[in-house]
Amino acid sequence: MVEIVGVEADSIANEIGLEKGDRLISINGKLMRDYIDFKYQTSDVFFILEVEKKNGEHWEIEVERNLEEKLGIIFNDIIFDNLMLCQNNCIFCFIQQQAPGLRKTLKLKDDDYRFSFLQGSFITLTNLNDLEFERIFKLNLSPLNISIHTTNPRLRERMMRNYKAGEILNHLRRLKEANINFNAQIVLCPGLNDKKELDKSINDLSLFRPNIISLGIVPVGLTKYRKGLYPLKKYDAKMAKNLLTQISLWQKKIMHNDSNWVYAADEFYYLADKDIPSYEEYDGFPQLENGIGLSRLMWNKFKKLENTLPKRVKYNKVTIITSVLGKKALKPVIKRLLKIEGLFIDLISIKNYFFGLDVTVTGLLTAGDIIHTLKNKKVSNKIILPKIAINDKGYFLDDLNLEDIKKEFPDKDFYIKGDIQGILEVLIGD
Ligand code: SF4
Repeated sequence: MVEIVGVEADSIANEIGLEKGDRLISINGKLMRDYIDFKYQTSDVFFILEVEKKNGEHWEIEVERNLEEKLGIIFNDIIFDNLMLCQNNCIFCFIQQQAPGLRKTLKLKDDDYRFSFLQGSFITLTNLNDLEFERIFKLNLSPLNISIHTTNPRLRERMMRNYKAGEILNHLRRLKEANINFNAQIVLCPGLNDKKELDKSINDLSLFRPNIISLGIVPVGLTKYRKGLYPLKKYDAKMAKNLLTQISLWQKKIMHNDSNWVYAADEFYYLADKDIPSYEEYDGFPQLENGIGLSRLMWNKFKKLENTLPKRVKYNKVTIITSVLGKKALKPVIKRLLKIEGLFIDLISIKNYFFGLDVTVTGLLTAGDIIHTLKNKKVSNKIILPKIAINDKGYFLDDLNLEDIKKEFPDKDFYIKGDIQGILEVLIGD
């Protein structure tokens, strides 16, 4: 049974008398495992809902509808049964190297193909039995996002510390046979799955085209909490340069349907001090969730807005908060904006003391580090904070929120912005 947490106005659910607090028992006599079942069973013009009303009554409602009409039932979660948990123990797992005392939800190791299909998270396929594979095929849950790391079976078992991890190529073959598409990622750990191992993985994976839509290569993330964990190295400029050359050779070799198909994370380009590829080279940005192409996409959006920028504005001084990596991405944009008369911008990068200085991405900034840095700087009265560092409930990863920041700087105005358009609204108005 799954609780209905809301009913939209002007919807079928509202019309047939469903209310917040009712519980959905079945549709067409079938129990619902997740939102995928719900969508599947309600995709027809006719279906039967079995509901337990919040007053305890049992309703069976025959629904006949026009497919354009909104059903309007809201659930809290997309998984109605148990979340599928990760059965791996990867040597590079970010969750194992988190700061002590973080909220429990940040330590949850999920590995659920439903999330992968509905929300784009990456899964490893190591916890799927035949029944789940059959369900993926039957419901055509495509595309999925899959963490590969390496196609070398023994190395994958070693890196993920799971004897089932070596089955990856067999699993991918099954997906291909069922015509399920997927994006793949490799978390690159120097000395383990890079160089020749990476060549082998790219080559093996290229044989799954066109079902494999894209392959993203991202550097391993290392925090300062690695005591007692597998000794991993971080990427430096030279290693990043070599990696980019290797990827560019592969792009030339296997360019498929005019698509580069394999892409490196923006971080590698900044580390190697190399130009970020052009907009076209990202082929529609299939790996944005992985931080691949974010900089280019932002610059492109800015370029489109550039001819709408004024020559001057009424005096406006703004501080923009970002990460070490974010600063590199924003720099060219700020350089152009500073040509606007009357506009003054401080671009402040926050070092990540919370997770360690090797963590340079904006999504992992904490309010504590922001407060600490701002206290030691002369900042403007208007401060823009990055939305990506704050969850839906308004909290940073260290469980502090905007109110905690405001308490420290009561005379400042804070703006939370998630993209270049939002930043421009604060800098120059609508
Ligand atoms: S798959 Fe590996 S990296 Fe992901 S949560 Fe599980 S152990 Fe951690």
